[in-house]
Amino acid sequence: MAAKIIDGKKVSDDIKAELKIKIESLRAEGIIPGLAAVLVGNNPASETYVNSKARACEKIGMYSEVFRRDASINHEELVEIVLGLNKRNDIDGILVQSPLPKHIDELAVTVLIDPKKDVDGFHPYNVGMLLLGQPIFQSCTPYGIVELMKRYNIDPSGKEVVILGRSNIVGKPLAAMLIQKQKGANATVTVCHSNTGNLREICRRADILIAAMGQAEFVKGDMVKEGAVVIDVGINRVVDSTLEKGYKLVGDVAFEECKLKASYITPVPGGVGPMTIAMLLSNTVISAERRLHKSR
Ligand code: NDP
Repeated sequence: MAAKIIDGKKVSDDIKAELKIKIESLRAEGIIPGLAAVLVGNNPASETYVNSKARACEKIGMYSEVFRRDASINHEELVEIVLGLNKRNDIDGILVQSPLPKHIDELAVTVLIDPKKDVDGFHPYNVGMLLLGQPIFQSCTPYGIVELMKRYNIDPSGKEVVILGRSNIVGKPLAAMLIQKQKGANATVTVCHSNTGNLREICRRADILIAAMGQAEFVKGDMVKEGAVVIDVGINRVVDSTLEKGYKLVGDVAFEECKLKASYITPVPGGVGPMTIAMLLSNTVISAERRLHKSR
């Protein structure tokens, strides 16, 4: 039987509609949630991400401000921007778009963001607190995956979850979320990487298989257990000369094959991707709500 398609676009639209209502209430109290993005250099993908984040903010009534700086910026200048944003009362969330130029130490910049405004959830304080099950913010892509499962009544509790990829922004924080002894988690998690020996066998054990590798259509039908939930985080460009733009986007999962085995599957595009921005907005609104409570 073909899998049910998990519609991340619809879920993210639902979340944005819910946020819009919260933002209206905040505005009635004189608070406009504010997100600041720092964009260094002219990486086209980063430019696209930052622009779509700014557009998404404006659409739901949030304030957004983008700090564009040349790739020649030095560490001190970047530090000055971040510390200035930490102090601003109208800014609830700060993100520094990755990647930064090679001469800038990304971690050294991240640690300067006030953890209470770290809506990307990348600050070591939030990463550490995530392991303890008590972060101020959870990083957006894994948080979006957990939220997608929740909204499709997919309960990871007691399930065998296999995550392909151990990056700091997806694999590791997702594993930390799913092993927590709490509702919506409580799973048995295996994290695979490029040095994993028996990857295929491990994948076939998974009740929930999550691919975050950046390898186009790596996961084939024969790696998926009958009835498994398959979540595809990957976004890969592959050449397609039939299209005007010359490429198409595919995930890390061979969708057509895997959907014949899975019970649920996320498409690319339209699966996990839209959830990342929705959770970024959600974190910023949570931060603004904290500002309101503090002001009372
Ligand atoms: P990284 O490149 O940082 O990490 C990739 C991970 O996959 C690494 O742990 C790597 O192992 C592992 N890996 C790569 N190839 C193999 C292989 N052949 N076998 C086993 N493991 C492998 O990627 P990200 O986590 O940043 O991103 C992963 C994908 O998700 C990308 O396509 C990216 O575009 C997409 N993405 C999508 C987002 C969204 O919003 N939907 C957000 C973030 C990312 P090792 O550690 O050993 O090198």
